[in-house]
Amino acid sequence: MNDTAPLTPGSTIGILGGGQLGRMLAMAAVQLGYRCIGYAPAGDNVAADVCTDFFENGWGDKAALAAFASQCDVVTWEFENVPLSAVEAIPADLLAPDPRALEVAQDRLSEKRFVEELGARCAPYARVDSEDDFARAIDRVGTPGILKTARDGYDGKGQWRIASAHEAEGVRFPGRPCIYEGMVEFETEFSVILVRGREGTVHFWDSSANTHEGGMLVQSLLPAGPLVEAQVEKARDIARQTANALGYIGVLTLEFFATKSGPVFNEMAPRVHNSGHWTIEGAATSQFENHIRAVCGLPLGGTETRFASIDMRNIVGEDALTAHTILSEPGEPHLHLYGKREARDGRKMGHVTRVSHGVSHEKP
Ligand code: AMP
Repeated sequence: MNDTAPLTPGSTIGILGGGQLGRMLAMAAVQLGYRCIGYAPAGDNVAADVCTDFFENGWGDKAALAAFASQCDVVTWEFENVPLSAVEAIPADLLAPDPRALEVAQDRLSEKRFVEELGARCAPYARVDSEDDFARAIDRVGTPGILKTARDGYDGKGQWRIASAHEAEGVRFPGRPCIYEGMVEFETEFSVILVRGREGTVHFWDSSANTHEGGMLVQSLLPAGPLVEAQVEKARDIARQTANALGYIGVLTLEFFATKSGPVFNEMAPRVHNSGHWTIEGAATSQFENHIRAVCGLPLGGTETRFASIDMRNIVGEDALTAHTILSEPGEPHLHLYGKREARDGRKMGHVTRVSHGVSHEKP
């Protein structure tokens, strides 16, 4: 999509994946006068509520992918685990970002190697392809640590925390390629979210301090505090180099641990990110709108933070059923519900963003 003119209003954006990120991308796209068509296997595809058309077909259905692509002027994704074979069924000149970003980010080993080459520091890690590798990894990396499947994990799924070598004996190798990482002692976690335009311009949003529970994000806070502020430039430098090296177009997220000895890279997501939901009300231009602008070749919007403090919290599981009560709270909280049919435990159902011109917010 590099050399073409900006997409005119009425053009069609294809979105691979049907979750809340796709829904919020489509909402931003529709506001700019575009149409969206989604594609994902059958399921609770909440992006379909906002798309003009939605293909519920498998990732292996080449004919359906071709039919979908034939209706699109650009194709992007909201889900980083779209199989590469599905992306490769879409004509390359329609795709933004470049699928190389997916290839790197879909595998925890390859993303770590990629950023290490650019000078980033990672937790000590070892590849684990067998029971024996696992035992060697425990010896080499030590405990405590986390065994993670190399691919397809999200929100803490596909992860096993290991407190001691003794405990490791009770954990069975899951039979698919994994990575074993040493546990990082961090003060806080933060993310760097950037947008890169077709001509290579890069803008960063402010970094939020992120709190996770059980591997899932629960809260993003701004300002992120002095430690993150002292480390963010180094982290941005890695993120900028990553985006440039991938010829990236759109929104890219890198997650870091802020440790006493500087930022430690955790993982990247070649897409809009949960820790950037605050940008909808809190920044001059949201991550969703800037992703759409970037992939459509429009000028990027400013990323400045518009409030002194911002608190974004996820609404998880059955809490969504009573979430409308949030609307009567003082301070005009901004409620977003994703329209998911089933409020399962541990499932992200929505989020609420509280903004303030004064600095005061609480940890959950
Ligand atoms: P991930 O899926 O790799 O982003 O992991 C989810 C969350 O688990 C992270 O945001 C951290 O809160 C925690 N976590 C993952 N890896 C590590 C690690 N090596 N050291 C400490 N905490 C970790």
